[in-house]
Amino acid sequence: MRKSVVAIVGRPNVGKSTIFNRLVGERISIVEDIPGITRDRIYAEGEWLTSTFNIIDTGGIEIGDEPLLLKMRQQAEVAIDEADVIIFLVNGREGITAADEEVAKLLFKSNKPVVLAVNKIDNPEMREKIYEFYSLGFGEPYPISGTHGLGLGDLLDAVVDLFPEQESAEAEEDTIYFSLIGRPNVGKSSLVNAILNEERVIVSEIEGTTRDAIDTKLRKDKQDYVIIDTAGMRKRGKVYETTEKYSVLRALKAIERSDVVLVLIDAETGIREQDKKIAGYAHDAGRAIVIVVNKWDTVVANEKAMKEFETKIRAHFQFLDYAPIVFLSAKTKKRLHTLLPAIDLASENHAKRVPTNVLNDVIMDALAMNPTPTIKGRRLKILYTTQVAAKPPSFVVFVNDPELMHFSYKRFLENKIRDAFGFVGTPIKIFARKRQ
Ligand code: GDP
Ligand code: GDP
Repeated sequence: MRKSVVAIVGRPNVGKSTIFNRLVGERISIVEDIPGITRDRIYAEGEWLTSTFNIIDTGGIEIGDEPLLLKMRQQAEVAIDEADVIIFLVNGREGITAADEEVAKLLFKSNKPVVLAVNKIDNPEMREKIYEFYSLGFGEPYPISGTHGLGLGDLLDAVVDLFPEQESAEAEEDTIYFSLIGRPNVGKSSLVNAILNEERVIVSEIEGTTRDAIDTKLRKDKQDYVIIDTAGMRKRGKVYETTEKYSVLRALKAIERSDVVLVLIDAETGIREQDKKIAGYAHDAGRAIVIVVNKWDTVVANEKAMKEFETKIRAHFQFLDYAPIVFLSAKTKKRLHTLLPAIDLASENHAKRVPTNVLNDVIMDALAMNPTPTIKGRRLKILYTTQVAAKPPSFVVFVNDPELMHFSYKRFLENKIRDAFGFVGTPIKIFARKRQ
């Protein structure tokens, strides 16, 4: 199911980042578990009552040194194109400005649902300041204070009320949904075309199923797939489409709907810092991952070159040590036939469930081999382990005290589980819980 998307729009200094961080809460810090990868906080998950949604801080999408009004206009366009509901943020201490009016015009024309929030209303005495904002034409202004966390509940009630009805197009169980992510020019569109033209691939239907991507259904050897193709989207020719953050935003939306994410790397130009960042998002989202080294026709392609490239990838993407690597050329179609089998394998492992008794045997063997650590005189005791979810496979280890489960021991258990069950292509998650 697609999550609704909320965007916060407003001129500089009204408090967009403050509100964004409030709404996202502590989730962001949980996500940043890969050392050395800096994250843009432009897109994150928020939660209110029974709804989870994604939220964009459009202020984070920078478009260079444009004059303020132009910047505001572009920001509003991003929000209009990407969001289901827009929070239009103004500053209650400063009243309506020309920039606010400019944004209001654009939002008004777009016919998108808008909730007007007046920020910096830090105490009840200031509430009367909200009335002038009625004139912006978005109905009732919601007084909030980002600093003090006031009024956010009422604001979110209004936002959630405006979420669209979910389309009933449920994901089909046995179909593998996959997307391609990577820097511009790495060959995403070329690879999509190559896959669709591959031998014995039956493309049953091409349709614009969502606003965000073109979904293409295909079938090969009795397996159904859907390619979620954001790169191949008709370009709207807007300035912000060329910014890196915007392409990250698009990639994130595609990742969300995928079972398997293909992380594309350009063999010709080698690995770049940006590749790492993009791959980090797919990992964090818990999707199955296949690393695809494209343009393999541009290098002297032999076993040795492959080994060397693999070593480089493993060094750069340590957090993706589980991801298989496929070398191919979208252009010449060399080795293209190795791609779908890698996707199949990653997807199968991503959805895999292992029997509890076998799992506990594996953990017991691991304990025998490498006894649990002692911290400040207290020893970690592992009582019982169970798989609580798939996609990705997630395990809960019941222990005497979760604090005693160090990262390194968790890593050791993860490796043992991987050795035993072969989770190639998928991240796995391990949580320590105190036994009740
Ligand atoms: P942005 O540029 O719209 O992202 O605004 P920021 O979130 O960076 O906030 C701009 C300034 O306003 C910062 O100094 C914040 O501390 C301050 N600010 C944000 N929310 C409030 C609020 O509710 N009350 C007050 N008094 N200040 C706030
Ligand atoms: P995208 O921006 O990631 O969708 O990349 P494109 O598919 O548009 O490809 C960018 C450029 O790389 C184009 O000029 C393609 O012809 C070229 N290209 C794509 N795949 C290959 C490949 O396997 N080998 C070579 N030599 N060029 C490729």
